[in-house]
Amino acid sequence: MELIAVDRHADIPPQYLGTPIADLLEYHNLDRPFDTYTTAKLLVGMCMDSRKHLKIPENFSFIIRSGGANLRYSEFKVSYAIACGGVRAIALMGHTNCGMVNLAGRRELFINGLVENAGWNREQAEEHFNTLAPMFEIGNEIEFIGLEAKRLRVRYPKIIVCPMMYKLEDNRLYLIPEAAE
Ligand SMILES: [Zn+2]
Repeated sequence: MELIAVDRHADIPPQYLGTPIADLLEYHNLDRPFDTYTTAKLLVGMCMDSRKHLKIPENFSFIIRSGGANLRYSEFKVSYAIACGGVRAIALMGHTNCGMVNLAGRRELFINGLVENAGWNREQAEEHFNTLAPMFEIGNEIEFIGLEAKRLRVRYPKIIVCPMMYKLEDNRLYLIPEAAE
């Protein structure tokens, strides 16, 4: 699937203009000078991966980081940002080369790492992986974020949800194309 580059203001889809999604794209991709915020306008859901750094002002956004930008197990935090934090938009951000893709291929690394680095016994480590890996496996990054955005739109119908990707290759944000509803 071809991602949509945002290299100038005209690349921002009209439905996001005037929303915190457009602000995010302008700050991160278009070097817009930072405004001052006293309350957060946006919730960013992004992966825990250390290779990403968002260019955004202080106080602009709540950020929930979880493996693969998977918010299925962070629902209370999402609800809190909306209900108590007052945000009306969610940027759901996957990234290229995500470790939550093909977890089965990292099974031995994971188990050996827990045994060596954390002091677990092998049996504990195997059970931990076997029980939880299926919950955290995301398959294809782009498809997962697209599906997760759809799920969040159904769950929070008044909230704007924008599926996007952070490309590690150039540290820029790209939009995930969506079929017309
Ligand atoms: Zn990741």
